Amino acid sequence: MQNQLLIYNTLTRTKEKFEPIHKGMVGLYVCGPTVYSDVHMGNCRTFISFDLIYRYLLHLGFKVRYVRNITDAGHLEGDRDEGDDKFEKKARLEQLEPMEIVQKYTLGFHDVMREFNTLPPSIEPTATGHICEQIEMVKQIIANDYAYEVNGTIYFDVEKYNTKFNYGQLTNRMLDDLIGGTRELGGQDEKRGRLDFALWIKAKPEQIMRWPSPWGWGFPGWHIECSAMSSKYLGKTFDIHGGGMDLQATHHTNEIAQSQACNHKAPVKYWMHTNMLTVNGVRMSKTANNGFLPSELFSGNHPLLEKGYSPMGVRFFMMQTHYRSTLDFSNEALQASEKGYARLIASIKTLESLKPSISSGIFLNEHIKACYDAMNDDFNTPVLIAELFEIARYINLANDGKTPLTESDINGLKKLMHNFVFDVLGLRSETSNTENDKALQGVMEIILEIRKEIKTRKDFAVSDKLRDDLSKINITIKDTKDGAIWSI
Ligand code: AMP
Ligand code: ZN
Repeated sequence: MQNQLLIYNTLTRTKEKFEPIHKGMVGLYVCGPTVYSDVHMGNCRTFISFDLIYRYLLHLGFKVRYVRNITDAGHLEGDRDEGDDKFEKKARLEQLEPMEIVQKYTLGFHDVMREFNTLPPSIEPTATGHICEQIEMVKQIIANDYAYEVNGTIYFDVEKYNTKFNYGQLTNRMLDDLIGGTRELGGQDEKRGRLDFALWIKAKPEQIMRWPSPWGWGFPGWHIECSAMSSKYLGKTFDIHGGGMDLQATHHTNEIAQSQACNHKAPVKYWMHTNMLTVNGVRMSKTANNGFLPSELFSGNHPLLEKGYSPMGVRFFMMQTHYRSTLDFSNEALQASEKGYARLIASIKTLESLKPSISSGIFLNEHIKACYDAMNDDFNTPVLIAELFEIARYINLANDGKTPLTESDINGLKKLMHNFVFDVLGLRSETSNTENDKALQGVMEIILEIRKEIKTRKDFAVSDKLRDDLSKINITIKDTKDGAIWSI
């Protein structure tokens, strides 16, 4: 039933058979968020894509150790070791301790991930919790002669590294080409080569987030964090490393170089990169200031949004595009996705009440195979969803008495829909549960009764306040000639 899983490997630019290093087990590392501000929808796209990948690997029966880090130190504003530390800058702006910034945005990130029904990773290591491991790694790279110290800062020597290894391997670029794309070193520059990057950075006197090291007080570079944490939990060579495509050229290229230089081994077998969420064709990012937050998307409270969208409608919208294609945001596409998602869920409900026939009008195994084929082809969710819609069409035909389904067909379809819609795509039914509905109905009847009494006493200010306050939480009260009625 299940064919071989193929994964597009950025390293080789081909779809390859997925063969884990240790049979039955998968080590998966994904670069997590830099928690100095709220995650925007672009970030969410990457994390939701890897949630799908994690879910499918679990579904196939692999024992997966999924490590997704939290970057809570060492991320400077510029990609080339320049600019302010993002945490310290935000801390000054919000008048908080840097670690309060970290705590605030980590909690926010977790809330958002829960809303989108993503599974928590197996390990969520923080950069600040792994300073010793990073220092050890830098020491080893210096010992192996691929890094040098200038005045308390340690730089990685890219040109030296490239004499033995291929620095531009991940992006398929030659070193000269890469050097040509960077600015020349200025007189103040401590670096030997234009592509050299910091492994450890000397702290400025005012720096709060700083640690002692053999080279004095400082803090780790952003790239060394991921190398140290991935090798600690997954080994010197592990199966899959993922992140957004924007990380390929610098962050991931540097991760490979550091790990090779330290361990004399390629760190990762399969590199996976998700494509970008764009707004009018422009990549959504904090710097482009074209991002919107999940909370804005849910409430509809943003100039770009015609209305609010439910988390599962948004997740379904993302799943309708392959993770390696760009996804452009639009209200029309989101609204179409909401409808499609509702149609799929409705068909699963219909399945529950179908009356079995004695004859069968469906080749169930072919449909099951089509679902696995889609997912085995580098997690092709748009093809999977087209197949699920085809199955929904059968269910509706059966409901109209136009296609017979046996009891075994119905059970098979229930299993298929459950596996792919809920377990793999990670959707959940959003219709509220009946217990809560009943409780809300009861509470609203009590409130309307009290409001009636208030109005009889002619205390209109209080009765209006009650109506307005309820409206703020999206409950509308309408006074009709037969009394007040409420709706959501
Ligand atoms: P950051 O918090 O900036 O380190 O980013 C966290 C993750 O979000 C990284 O894997 C980025 O590649 C990814 N990312 C950032 N912007 C976008 C975007 N517009 N679309 C998809 N992924 C993104
Ligand atoms: Zn990383």
